[in-house]
Amino acid sequence: TNDLASTDPDIAKAINDELGRQQQEIELIASENIVSKAVLEAQGSIMTNKYAEGYPGRRYYGGCHFVDVAENLAIDRAKQLFGCEFANVQPNSGSQANQAAFMALIKPGDTILGMSLDAGGHLTHGARPNQSGKWFNAIQYGVRKQDGLIDFDQVEELAKEHQPKMIIAGGSAYSREFDFKRFREIADSVGAFLMVDMAHFAGLVAAGLHPNPFPYAHVATTTTHKTLRGPRGGMVLTNDADIAKKVNSAVFPGLQGGPLMHVIAAKAVAFGEALTDDFKAYQTAVRDNAQVLADTLYAGGLELASGGTDNHLLLVDLRPKGLTGKAAEASLGRAFITCNKNGVPFDPEKPMITSGIRLGTPAGTSRGFGAEEFKLIGELIIEVLDGLAANGEEGNAEVESAVKAKVIALTDRFPIYAGL
Ligand code: PLP
Repeated sequence: TNDLASTDPDIAKAINDELGRQQQEIELIASENIVSKAVLEAQGSIMTNKYAEGYPGRRYYGGCHFVDVAENLAIDRAKQLFGCEFANVQPNSGSQANQAAFMALIKPGDTILGMSLDAGGHLTHGARPNQSGKWFNAIQYGVRKQDGLIDFDQVEELAKEHQPKMIIAGGSAYSREFDFKRFREIADSVGAFLMVDMAHFAGLVAAGLHPNPFPYAHVATTTTHKTLRGPRGGMVLTNDADIAKKVNSAVFPGLQGGPLMHVIAAKAVAFGEALTDDFKAYQTAVRDNAQVLADTLYAGGLELASGGTDNHLLLVDLRPKGLTGKAAEASLGRAFITCNKNGVPFDPEKPMITSGIRLGTPAGTSRGFGAEEFKLIGELIIEVLDGLAANGEEGNAEVESAVKAKVIALTDRFPIYAGL
């Protein structure tokens, strides 16, 4: 029962330093969020001690009656949130949720059709270095050069030519809505399963602000820690009882052993929060704030891939200022604005350099930033990037430290995790 600071001061210090970083910096990484203290409490709970292989009511271990309560609540709330019949809340991550959907429905060597990484897809959608790209015959679709939107003519042609067993809709850096009906029509025309990976925009779906994958998806996967604002983890959803059975066997015993019951308890808490009117207001603000940030960046001379955003994220094209994503990420980081470099469609730069940065509003909105604050954030980004453009790779230290002071003044006005 000793506290961490006395038993392991090194780890205690790392956690405390990370807390300070999260409190002081402006977090714009589109896949991150700031969970509630209730979610933290559940995730940090003694449910970490429990082995519970199997599913509620049919476990391979004794003593599971209380963790069953947590898992059943997580399942019921997930079904209610997404309006579907079945949820498996055990995947440890978004990647494992995707692997489970693959294991349930297709076999190694089968053809899959997913969005390419360069166009905004995720590694697990068939990228070469990923298992999905090694174990399947992965064909990739992209976006149109003229407008950065998903090229449905190409999706259709590739589907006809390669006859995939599964088509994947969803991505990590695509700022527009996905047309699930269109994807399903193409899937049906070749007899493929449609899998929707809504990891990025699941919170918007839950709040009714993005089209729901159902009834179009055969199976939908998501992470629980992005817009959905829960603990790190994954989930698989479907309306089809037969697919549901296969997904359950794929998650356990197919891929995983004992489920992380403390994380599942925290998922239940987050899903409960997501069912409230407050969460709907939060997601509305996430989307509105993305619009404000987009307008401010355009006014400052930047461009966005696909010409704007419909959701919580912006893929900023830095080429109008002659900058790379690598230099921009580093310079903004020195000013306490955290984001990630990201390739833009048809990017001439290598993946470790890139011509873009990806920004998102979920974390900032969680700490209470509204339109006024996101306008200021956009202006601070422009200030740093203009300093960088004028000074070359090392950036402009004077501008960076002036902006850092303004960032700290702003984050001080919107405190998080007081008393932790
Ligand atoms: N799917 C999409 C669309 C994602 O953006 C991500 C996260 O990066 C994942 C899956 C993988 O999630 P995880 O990092 O939890 O494995």
